[in-house]
Amino acid sequence: MADSWSPPDGVDKGSEVFTVSLGMFKDTGYRCPAADAMKARGCRPRARPESTRETLEHFAFGPFMKASHASVHDGLQQWTAHAHEHYGAAFPEDPASPMTEVPAWSYRYQLPEPDQRGAREYRITVWGRCLRSPDGTRRELRLPVNRIKDAEPHRGHVAAAALATAEGIPGPLPERVRIVEFALLDGRTRTLFEGTRAEAVERYRKGGGPEALSAVLDGREFRPGSSCTGCAYLAVCPALRRAPGLLGVTGEGRPRRTWSVTNGRSYRACPARDHMRRLHLPAAQAVERSPSAERGRAVHAYLAERHGLHRPCTVDVPAQWVPDGFELPEEEQRLGALLLRRHAAVCPLRCVRDRSAVRVEPRVVRHDPFSDVLVIAEPDLLYRDGDSWVWRETKTSATGWGRPEGLLERYPQLALAALLLSRGDLGGSPTRARIELEVLRPAGADLEIVDPRAPEIRAAAEETVRGLVADWHRDDHYAPTPGAACTRCEVARWCSARANEKEAA
Ligand code: SF4
Ligand code: SF4
Repeated sequence: MADSWSPPDGVDKGSEVFTVSLGMFKDTGYRCPAADAMKARGCRPRARPESTRETLEHFAFGPFMKASHASVHDGLQQWTAHAHEHYGAAFPEDPASPMTEVPAWSYRYQLPEPDQRGAREYRITVWGRCLRSPDGTRRELRLPVNRIKDAEPHRGHVAAAALATAEGIPGPLPERVRIVEFALLDGRTRTLFEGTRAEAVERYRKGGGPEALSAVLDGREFRPGSSCTGCAYLAVCPALRRAPGLLGVTGEGRPRRTWSVTNGRSYRACPARDHMRRLHLPAAQAVERSPSAERGRAVHAYLAERHGLHRPCTVDVPAQWVPDGFELPEEEQRLGALLLRRHAAVCPLRCVRDRSAVRVEPRVVRHDPFSDVLVIAEPDLLYRDGDSWVWRETKTSATGWGRPEGLLERYPQLALAALLLSRGDLGGSPTRARIELEVLRPAGADLEIVDPRAPEIRAAAEETVRGLVADWHRDDHYAPTPGAACTRCEVARWCSARANEKEAA
């Protein structure tokens, strides 16, 4: 059967050696399947503009894996020291059964002639800490993660790891293989596979390995998002939409980055904090999952699920309304139910008849080539009114009525929404395009309408967004600014500059 996969215009078909890295088997929703397939097949873009490297290391596992060549931020240094400590505790040296670190293995499978994909050789490369016993009879692959999740491990990922560890080169092939995940945060471990070499190969064959390999190599979906930053195919990507000048800053010689309003707010509070959040260093759960923040997220998750069914919400909110994965104290559960009943009066689906006209929490990604920044936004809801897009944001509040003034500064996501709508970056007609800010309060729901075409709104939106972006865009070092924000900083644990409560007061 002929290969029906083909790269987009501007990309040359690659080599006969297909190389899949272990991480590609782990579809987290944030990887771009089309980019992974092109990379694995060795496809080359015909044009690849020069890019500037970051001054600081931006890969959080880099220093731990000794794969870092850039300078390392204080936060990442603290985190790496912590990670080494827990790694040592999780895997103490055992003189009776010593293991030595060795270079990463790579599995290779050669074919006598090219197959239907045009591949003559398949490779699976391992990423993680690779160890073997002195006599080479045992191999162990240790996969670092921040935390061990409750969710089941990715089946195809475990299958591919088992095969590559059992059959990979260099080195003598082992008799026994172990794959273990370990959490750098607390040293917990989870064994993903343990068995003989033959069992590891069997695990690949019967455990979803070939299917997972095909899924990577034949990926067609272009999924714009954070992975676009390092993507070699960005200049020719048919799915990534451009928004020249969206952020109002220029970026000659600046490294390509992503930006969201959440980053902007976090940077404004403290540049070091934003940098550590971007590195995904583990955040303090007590801050990140405070009861009120958790209630807000639970309300959003409930509404997203309801709106996904394309039915208008009603005041009938079940007693057990809290979605899976959230834990709320009773008081917050009661308040959440009340706020959801308030939402029924302003639910946008009351006036939308066409199901295809509703997008629930869509990921909106635009590349601003002037700043070379990928702007990422996630409106709570987009729906069409006639030919125009309406951007709905929902907030929850435990207090009484709020002020309608200064909305764009208070909620900068509205400023970004105003720019995207007024510039026509979302498409559709500008005639009825608008932003709706819904604030759910115990006493009722506010619905503020913002007209993105009003000159004063556009000017305020530009000023707000530029104000959040400009300093960050020039910054390479993300210095900490200790102060009042430290007391509510979710990554304070990794910051040696944090102010104590007395200093912050
Ligand atoms: S630019 Fe983004 S969407 Fe396009 S191929 Fe690359 S990662 Fe995928
Ligand atoms: S603890 Fe304070 S100085 Fe350190 S990152 Fe957090 S807010 Fe910034």
